[in-house]
Amino acid sequence: MKSIPPIHKVKGYGTGNIYIIEADEELVLVDTGVPQDYMLVVDRIKSLGRSPVEVGHIILTHFHLDHAGSAAAFKRLSHARVYAHEADVPYLQGDKHISSVYARGAIGTLVSLVPVAAARIARVPTVEVDVACSDGEVIDVLGGMRVIHAPGHTPGSSAFFWEEQGVLFTGDSIINTYHFLSLPTNGFSVDFDQAARSICKVVDEVEDEDVRLLCAGHGPFVEDYADEKLLKVRGKMMRKGQA
Ligand SMILES: [Zn+2]
Ligand SMILES: [Zn+2]
Repeated sequence: MKSIPPIHKVKGYGTGNIYIIEADEELVLVDTGVPQDYMLVVDRIKSLGRSPVEVGHIILTHFHLDHAGSAAAFKRLSHARVYAHEADVPYLQGDKHISSVYARGAIGTLVSLVPVAAARIARVPTVEVDVACSDGEVIDVLGGMRVIHAPGHTPGSSAFFWEEQGVLFTGDSIINTYHFLSLPTNGFSVDFDQAARSICKVVDEVEDEDVRLLCAGHGPFVEDYADEKLLKVRGKMMRKGQA
């Protein structure tokens, strides 16, 4: 079995994960953290003996600040190609705006009560997207990453499946904050019911694949039993009648 090229996880100040994939010829970022995470990621890249100008591709799972916040800075530095699902492109490019915070659940309600905080979360430095992806498309990164559109958290939220290596990047479509796979935070999701259906969709799409590693938008790597954990979270969504 081929070994997976090194994937390094940086936990950003905004709790979002930034993944650095260290291929021989270039670096790939999956999400970029909040703007303040830029230096964290640069330092991590340098600690690997590599340079941030080697970042050739930036895959954004969705437009939220804790994922897309440093994308513009990295693109300026390295001229990397930026990929995101087409439904989130207008929000990334600043052509359209929607709230990132909804007065639902404990966290959403709390943040909604502080309009300054809600406004700050919504202010993502705009970034030009080079490749607007669509569902099912295989983008030309590291031999092919399959786009799985998983709307609900944001309109263009997507998972990316690195087919050759069996690595699934879920963004916030499936998070691992509590050491089990779950829905994203209700108060930060535009359509929570749709987010639940999208979990089922993501699992359906990779059910026949060998998922060797799951990299969620929040929480630790899932290195063991990723397949079983995916089936379990889908079952949970279906039992809840949310699917
Ligand atoms: Zn997030
Ligand atoms: Zn998010």
